[in-house]
Amino acid sequence: MRAVRLHEKLDLRAETVPDPTVGRGEVLVRTRSAFVCGTDVRMYKNGRAGISAANPRILGHEFAGHIEAVGEDVIGYTPGMRVAVEPNYGCGTCDRCTSGNTQLCKQQRAIGIADDGAFAEFVKVPARAVQQGNIFILPDTVSFHAAALAEPFSCAWNAYEKIGIYPGDRVLIIGAGPIGVMHAKIARLAGAGRIMMNDLSADRLEAAQAIVPGVETILTDDLPADIRKRTDGEGVDLVITAASVAAIQEMAFSLAGMNGRIMFFGGLPKGNSTVRLDTNEIHYKQLTVSGTTMQNLRQYRKILDLLAVGALTADDIVTGTADAGDVAAVVEQISRGAGLKTALVFS
Ligand SMILES: [Zn+2]
Ligand SMILES: [Zn+2]
Repeated sequence: MRAVRLHEKLDLRAETVPDPTVGRGEVLVRTRSAFVCGTDVRMYKNGRAGISAANPRILGHEFAGHIEAVGEDVIGYTPGMRVAVEPNYGCGTCDRCTSGNTQLCKQQRAIGIADDGAFAEFVKVPARAVQQGNIFILPDTVSFHAAALAEPFSCAWNAYEKIGIYPGDRVLIIGAGPIGVMHAKIARLAGAGRIMMNDLSADRLEAAQAIVPGVETILTDDLPADIRKRTDGEGVDLVITAASVAAIQEMAFSLAGMNGRIMFFGGLPKGNSTVRLDTNEIHYKQLTVSGTTMQNLRQYRKILDLLAVGALTADDIVTGTADAGDVAAVVEQISRGAGLKTALVFS
């Protein structure tokens, strides 16, 4: 089959590899949609422990497709079913796993990161992930592309559940990439009064506004001054940082108003995640500061349910498709911040 494998950092190859076979408890999915994400770009740039020329890895953790084959002892899934797969799974028995948060398990693994993923014609879902319920049968109203985007979308939903967005809130989202747009869609659904988006790219802001009408776009050299002006000096109720920049995290404390909340959604580069913190901003403004990572299976299902009834849409975030052979160009495009989501196609 055709596949895109990371051999070591900066060495991503579209190549032909043997078709995977399914063993006991495993499910084979024919990939119908797979997206490149920031995590893939980071793995490409920095490499990852366990991935080497001797042990290359097929990337791809945002995906959906048809079930092609099921192994012995698999219950509830049959070939031909349209499915989306949540990539994170755990040991299955620890406190976090038994409470449904398999993604926070100490032994957490993810398809497309620790296991071969979906940048291939076929992807194998490991038996433990099958048992833990990571395969979701899709309603007819959810396209493969939208289903594949349930992965990043449910990451944003996890942040929403943690920090809250309430009717009338002034929400500022810093970073107008695909994740920023997903946060904006959720803010709209949750009844935010004003949704402001800031980015360095005018093109991205324009694209975000086209997808989520009514968003206020902010292109400025002085974000704190701009926000003071827009809010009569009050600041915003919620700041979501959807950009991996330390200076933005630092700035968030001055952007939030009285009783404001801050969500650090995008992580910072390893070894460079210490920021200066004026704790008086937290104290005197009674700020709530939080962060989230990944999503649990319930949150993933929630996004699929919301997509199924049209309360959220994801197809409008797809800005292109590319042949698997052009994966290097897609990775380069994402690191430049061009376009939103590009789907890889294998046939
Ligand atoms: Zn991702
Ligand atoms: Zn566990």
